[in-house]
Amino acid sequence: MICEPLSMLENKVTSNVDNLEVKEEIKKMISCFQNMFSNLRTEWKRFDFFKRSSAFIPVESLLIGTRENDKRIKQRTILDIVESHIQYVPIEKTLQAFLQIPNVFRTISCFISNLSNVGSICNIMQSALWADMKHNEENKLILPIFIYFDEFEINNPLGSHAGIYKIGATYFVLGCLPPQFASQLENIFLLQLHYSEDRKTFGNSVIFAKIIESCRQLEEHGINISTESGDVHVWFSVAFVLGDNLGVNAIMGLTESFSATNFCRFCYATKHLTQTQLREDESLIRTREKYTSDVKTLSNGIKENCIWNSLSNFHITSNMTCDVMHDIYEGKK
Ligand SMILES: [Zn+2]
Repeated sequence: MICEPLSMLENKVTSNVDNLEVKEEIKKMISCFQNMFSNLRTEWKRFDFFKRSSAFIPVESLLIGTRENDKRIKQRTILDIVESHIQYVPIEKTLQAFLQIPNVFRTISCFISNLSNVGSICNIMQSALWADMKHNEENKLILPIFIYFDEFEINNPLGSHAGIYKIGATYFVLGCLPPQFASQLENIFLLQLHYSEDRKTFGNSVIFAKIIESCRQLEEHGINISTESGDVHVWFSVAFVLGDNLGVNAIMGLTESFSATNFCRFCYATKHLTQTQLREDESLIRTREKYTSDVKTLSNGIKENCIWNSLSNFHITSNMTCDVMHDIYEGKK
């Protein structure tokens, strides 16, 4: 589209120009136009360009251990040691890049400051839970982060190899975006990808170690962002860990079987009781104290101490979140 008309133009113009210098100049200019995208010609050049322009945040491949794999060489099966990696996108870089987009930080600040004028509760920042999480640090600007986890199959889910390449994906969103932006795909950020098998082999504490460490950094030290109205220091706090029932139970160290007696992450209602129970029984709700003693004995549906509790503002018993799509719209667990 560009090159052909340009060479026609070049021929026409240079044949009518006698001055050699001007002729060279025109040829050079046209050659520049013809090769406008030469520094983006290969994939490597494109990635290099985006890295340099800081518009692209490269993923970090982190070694978490090794696993055994059998490999067939010349009709013999041998044991092979394979490295296991997780793919992690640095959360602080994503947050910084996002909040530094013109108008983003201003829109969020406006939304937060208007929350007190809204009559009803429409955001976590108006809740008593959030006030608790902030530990009365009114002078700090702390923004809530929601972490979302789910697993998906990249191969044919009905085939004989189903499950081998199943991937666990962790995403995050800012919990203080105005409702019209909150569920837009471009405002949901990828945080990590790992093989589901690896989570079973190495456990939650290894798989989510990097995420928890970075979230702790964000809670304690925060990040600096430069906005239109100057530099601002912002802290973040993980308010909720979201997902479908299986996903949340899995990464919180609760039983992954919904035919277990105590499968519910909120209460001690047995499987039998949940089939007939219509009203909440407050005496059955899991509390911090009961949770601590359950962890010691690994009973009542608890498989391990919830790794997310190591975040200073988070506790599994206050993570009262449900996935409306899975629980109601889809009509199943
Ligand atoms: Zn329950």
